[in-house]
Amino acid sequence: MICCKECIDLLHDYLEGSLAQETRDALDEHFRECPPCIAFLNTYKSTSRLCRETLHQIEIPDEVRHTLQNFLKEHKIQQEGM
Ligand SMILES: [Zn+2]
Repeated sequence: MICCKECIDLLHDYLEGSLAQETRDALDEHFRECPPCIAFLNTYKSTSRLCRETLHQIEIPDEVRHTLQNFLKEHKIQQEGM
């Protein structure tokens, strides 16, 4: 199984389509069970163009942190509710 760190390491190749089918499947499987990584993927996709234009200022945008924090908060509330 792939962990979140591997997932993020492979993200660039995943989006470029240069991964082996087996690795792609493993990533898809991880995304299905790991919404924070989906949030990261979506943010990565929407900010990659921005990053290319501002190569000297690469850092995690507040938006990403916010999205993840919100998700974790909701997830925790759901778990407690159940
Ligand atoms: Zn993950």
